[in-house]
Amino acid sequence: MKDKKIEISYKSLTPEELPADDLELVARAKAMTYRSYAPYSRFHVGAAIRMADGSIVDGSNQENAAYPSGICAERNACWQASSLHPGMAMKKIAIAARNVGNMPEGEEADAPFQGSPISPCGACRQALLEYEHLHGDIEVILFGADNIYVFPSISSLLPFSFTEF
Ligand SMILES: [Zn+2]
Repeated sequence: MKDKKIEISYKSLTPEELPADDLELVARAKAMTYRSYAPYSRFHVGAAIRMADGSIVDGSNQENAAYPSGICAERNACWQASSLHPGMAMKKIAIAARNVGNMPEGEEADAPFQGSPISPCGACRQALLEYEHLHGDIEVILFGADNIYVFPSISSLLPFSFTEF
């Protein structure tokens, strides 16, 4: 028997330390939280993907009364990106969230952004990984109002992933 270890390298930055083009991507992800439809979780998530041609494709979480029928912001953006630009590499994804929580109806827009970076669920990591395997690493920018984490790839967030059968 052998004990083995996996290490993940990532950067922790303040918003002021982020390059201008990444700040633009984060701003799009933040803006998308205001287009979320999340009456059940009241957790409003936005994602924005920088494509290889420099354009941005974004999405927000869209929930449904039949819960599993809803979709996360990350997969919404990812599948839109692949639909709009088939075969084009996705270079980076930025993710941001606001927890509306118990805020009164009509005041949801006042909810602040999460202080700590928001991280994609396992299903979104798996979906994005498929495109990373096809077209190269997708950098992951997890926004938090207090600090931002930057991971070099989706695979760094999903060790031992399911990639072929
Ligand atoms: Zn997800």
